[in-house]
Amino acid sequence: MGDIIKGETGDWEIVIGLEIHAQVIAKSKLFSGASTEFGAMPNTQVSLVDAGMPGMLPVLNEVVVEQAVRTGLGLNSKINLHSVFARKNYFYPDLPTGYQISQFEDPIVGEGIIEIDMEDGTVKEIGITRLHLEQDAGKSIHDMHPSKSYIDLNRAGCALMEIVSEPDLRSAEEAVAYISKIRMILRYLGTCDGNMDEGSMRADVNISLRRVGTEKLGIRAEIKNVNSLKAVQQAIAFETRRQLAILEDGGEVKQETRLWDTTKMETRSMRSKEEAHDYRYFPDPDLLPLELDSEWVRQIKETLPELPDQKKERFVKDFGLSVYDASVLISERARADYFESVAKGRDAKLATNWVTNELLGALNKLSLTLDESPVSADQLGGLIDLISDDSISGKIAKDVFADMINSSKDASVIVEEKGLKQVTDTGAIEAIIDEVIAENPDNVESYRGGKDRLFGFFVGQTMKKSQGKANPVVVNEILKKKLDN
Ligand code: ADP
Ligand code: MG
Repeated sequence: MGDIIKGETGDWEIVIGLEIHAQVIAKSKLFSGASTEFGAMPNTQVSLVDAGMPGMLPVLNEVVVEQAVRTGLGLNSKINLHSVFARKNYFYPDLPTGYQISQFEDPIVGEGIIEIDMEDGTVKEIGITRLHLEQDAGKSIHDMHPSKSYIDLNRAGCALMEIVSEPDLRSAEEAVAYISKIRMILRYLGTCDGNMDEGSMRADVNISLRRVGTEKLGIRAEIKNVNSLKAVQQAIAFETRRQLAILEDGGEVKQETRLWDTTKMETRSMRSKEEAHDYRYFPDPDLLPLELDSEWVRQIKETLPELPDQKKERFVKDFGLSVYDASVLISERARADYFESVAKGRDAKLATNWVTNELLGALNKLSLTLDESPVSADQLGGLIDLISDDSISGKIAKDVFADMINSSKDASVIVEEKGLKQVTDTGAIEAIIDEVIAENPDNVESYRGGKDRLFGFFVGQTMKKSQGKANPVVVNEILKKKLDN
């Protein structure tokens, strides 16, 4: 369900289509052997091909092609066995060749459909139009010198996948859910790290409004290079207001490319349709059409990992989890793996609670990732075992866990060292209860006189005296017996 915008003149609907640029995980660039490692000294990872030296020939990187195919399969999209690299011609200082090698008419991946998961638990299908491979440009740096710009070509020629969606998204929330889902799938596949703050993933947001109930798409604006989920949300909100004001006024939205300004919180015109580049696309004469072997594609398909949707379904089915819990656990592959090793052979509900509430909560407080967790999956499993066999109560377990986070010790070691083992020995508990009864004659009398809610007081006193170690079930039983006669 998309948002309906109530205007003075009637209701409007938002229409959004996204172009996501995702940097391909590969050791070397799309058409050269230069390294793609992030964070190297400027211009240390530039081959003669990347620098646009005359007469240099591009050589296609097979790993990148495999990554694109893997991604296409993971996005339930059609793999085109025949695709063509084309030159997209334009001048830019950080593009030494004077053209970007991309794919235009024949992309490597065609149409597909993915499901996005909304916060209220509903699922919506979004069409993928295509995925094509292209080169990234270099980087111009304008803020290092008062009168000069610097150019770093390390990124020039790195492989990007451009993933284009159908105009199926109807709200900022859906756009964010879509990007999140794509990012999750790419991370599961290991084809893009999805780090938007490092620029490995960025989105062009196409947006228009139309009257509710009409089919024809309105005129769109395209907001370039939006690089965080928050910015996507804010840019859509701003652009909706801007276009609404124009349309409600009887005006026409201009088809143009706009920029999102994160400091001014507004979109700004970059160029209009009339100024749009004519890129003069043509097939790159240095590169043959790319012909894939269907058997090779089939082999890649066989090596795909279990993807988020499948994993979620399995968690719900096999572990009896709620869809919500399953969604939280599968949102990262490492998290899902961690959970599975904790849950294996143990109570799934307990495992879910301990992973999602206690562990993730504690890591979040310490700003640690799961990889950096001081408590391993085996160790958390060990703690749950102590709860399950009644060695410790759930309450003591929380203290033990806090200790594990600090010391990385095994739960059993901490329980041993601190003497926290739960007392289930009825004799010992009975002795404590006798003391409590002897120390509180007035309350005993009131309780027996009908003040039922004092029972909790006796439980509390007994637990306190046992330093929380008495088994609460046994405490309740014995107290009932002693007080009620
Ligand atoms: P280009 O940006 O190169 O002109 P397309 O015309 O294929 O490419 O559109 C790119 C993106 O814009 C796609 O994601 C598509 O879904 C989206 N789009 C196209 N028309 C509209 C529209 N009227 N409103 C919103 N999104 C649109
Ligand atoms: Mg575009």
